[in-house]
This record gives sequence, C-alpha cells and structure tokens, in this order.
Amino acid sequence: MENSIPDKKRSSKIKNGADSAQSPATQAHPGKRSAPVNGPNNGGAAIGVADVDKLVADALARIAAAGTPEQLEKTRLNLIGRKGVLPLALRAIKDRSAEDKRRLGPALNQARTTVEAAVRQRALSLSKSVFESLVDDEAIDVTEPLPRTALGHIHPTEHVRREVEDIFRSMGFEVVRGQEIDDEENNFDLLNIPASHPARDLWDTFWLKKPEAFKESSVAATKNRLLLRTHTSNMQVRVMRDRTPPLRIVNIGRVYRYESTDKTHETTFNQIEGFIVDESTTLGDLRGTLHTLFETIFGQKLVTRLRPSYFPFTEPSVELDMSCTFCKGKGCAVCKNTGWLEIGGAGMIHPNVLKNGGLNPNKFQGFAFGMGLERITMFKYGIDDIRWLLSADLRFLEQF
Ligand SMILES: [Zn+2]
Repeated sequence: MENSIPDKKRSSKIKNGADSAQSPATQAHPGKRSAPVNGPNNGGAAIGVADVDKLVADALARIAAAGTPEQLEKTRLNLIGRKGVLPLALRAIKDRSAEDKRRLGPALNQARTTVEAAVRQRALSLSKSVFESLVDDEAIDVTEPLPRTALGHIHPTEHVRREVEDIFRSMGFEVVRGQEIDDEENNFDLLNIPASHPARDLWDTFWLKKPEAFKESSVAATKNRLLLRTHTSNMQVRVMRDRTPPLRIVNIGRVYRYESTDKTHETTFNQIEGFIVDESTTLGDLRGTLHTLFETIFGQKLVTRLRPSYFPFTEPSVELDMSCTFCKGKGCAVCKNTGWLEIGGAGMIHPNVLKNGGLNPNKFQGFAFGMGLERITMFKYGIDDIRWLLSADLRFLEQF
C-alpha cells in the first residue's frame, strides 16, 4: 500500500499532461531543447492500446495464479509497485505525441484501476482461504483421545497428611505449624523433660551450633541451646501461652532424630502431634478421637486399645494399638503374629506442662498424643520399608 500514494500522484500528473497535451509542444523553452515529439528516442516504449489490453490480460492471469498472500504481494509490486510494469509504461509515454498520450494515457490508467481492483479481490479470497485452511488444519476435536502424559501426583506421605488434617478439622481441631529449628526450652524443658532427666535419652538429638553473631546476644548468655526439633510437641506450650482454653490443636510436621536408619527408622520423618485442653476431657475421649481417625483413614472397622506406658509430658501415659489392618487381628508377618499394630503414644497432659503453659492444672485437663505419619502411610499402603518414602525413587513413587 505504501506505493499506491506516490503512484497515484504520478499518474494524475500524467493525466494532467494528457489533458493539456498541447502545452509542452506550444510553449517555448528558450535556451532549452524541447523534447522530440514522437521521436525515435522515446525509451523504446512504443506500445499501443492493443498492447495495453494484452498487458492487462497478462496481469490478471498472474494475479489469479498467486497462491498465497506473499506471492500476491510480489505480483502486485511487479505490476503496480513504484518500479512496476504499469507505472513504467505510464512514465514512458510522457515523450510520446499528444495523440498517443490521448489514447494511451486513459487506457493505461484504466488498466491500472483494473489491476488494482483484481489485486484487492484476490487478496480478499486468499485471506478467506487462509482462514478456511486454518479452520481445517488447527481445528480441535474435543472428542479425540489424547496420548497420556505423565502429570505427577502427590507423594503418599503428603496425601495421608492432608487426609489426617481434614479428619481432625472435621472433629473441630485447629491445624498449627511450628519451626523445625527450635530451642532446648520448648523442645524439652517446658515439656517436663529437664536436662538432668534420663528421659532425654529417648530422643537422640541433632544439636546446632549457634552462629557467631548470636553469641553476643542475650540469647547466647542463657544455656538454651538450639536443636532440630525431635517432635512437633515443641509448639504445645507456646499455644497454651498464646490462647485461652478450650484448645483443640493438631500439628503435623517434620522432625529429626540422630539415630541409625532401618526398615522402620529414619533420621527425618513427620510427626502428628495433637492435644485438647479444657475442663472435662478424659482418656475415653482420647481413645474415641483416635479410633475415629484410624477407622476413617483405613476405611475399615478396627479395634483399638490403650496400654500403660511412660512419657515425661503425660500422666498417665499410654501406648495406642489398633487391630492389624492386614490380617484383621488374626496374626501375620506385619504384626509379628500379635494381631496388633503399635500406632502411637498418648496420655493426659502432665500438670507441670499445663503450669508451664500458664494454666491451672486444678481447673484444666486434656490429652495429648503423638504418632508417626510415615508409619500410618506404610500401614495404609502396605509399604515395607520407611526409607522408600524419602528415596525419591520413581519405581516406588509411580505405584501410587
Ligand atoms: Zn497382622
């Protein structure tokens, strides 16, 4: 299109020249040789009206033959572009006789109009056919089955974590999160496990060095060492201090133990910790809560039982067992022929822990429990080695 405006100007000049065809011949140009009229030196463009017709027929054939918008543009430039066939022919007649100009000028201008119209028409039909071929080539058949692409999926441990959280929420619990790097005070002392207490040996701990910058601060002055939390109970006293009972809290997160690994032990795993504090909750409520949890997760009727045990932060303390989900209590390799699976530890919150949380143990009471998320995941899916869960081995993960 850029070419059309100058072309038009040029063609109108010539038109004017043709209309006042007499002027160049009659006007005197002193000192300047006037152009020869119809002389031999006219650029060899001795074309007649018949040639113009032929030129138009040829141009129309070429336009019709252009199969793509790109080809059409080439043809257009070649025919009516600045150096195209028609503009050149128009320019060439400026030296012709007035009679020739009168005949050829209008004929060439008419030819130009015809060619321009044909180009426009062809461009329109080409753009239509481009659109039609797009419709054909890129149409989407929504009913066509696609090749299966691997999308990946949630890790089995994460899947069970979400399920456990949902079940607790449905029972009115609030889900909290806590830090994985914590101090000795929140991980041990406030939970009734002072440094001198032999029970500390139950948790082999990763101790952390305090950063240099830390040593100047008042925190460093205390003997409150940093560690990787050994259980998610590290949030228990914090929550008690922050809120007013009744409390229904569950905290699932990563914990660390400095111990050797085997089929049932990992240095890094997830713990489900939860507790209730109010004025009337009992061990019976604990059993009912966990029974509901397990029957929902495993999707089957189960028997649960409590056995006496010892933990520093609960009194009394219990071990929680459920009937073996693999043999329904008859005895198998997984339950070592006992018919029971050990699933967690629990008890009534120790009065000292309540006191550390700023609560009066004569008024408030409640239960607390802890269990391994991976252990439940293993029972749910029949996984025989806990180390698979952190292995990132696709042969394992793709089975879920
Ligand atoms: Zn069994």
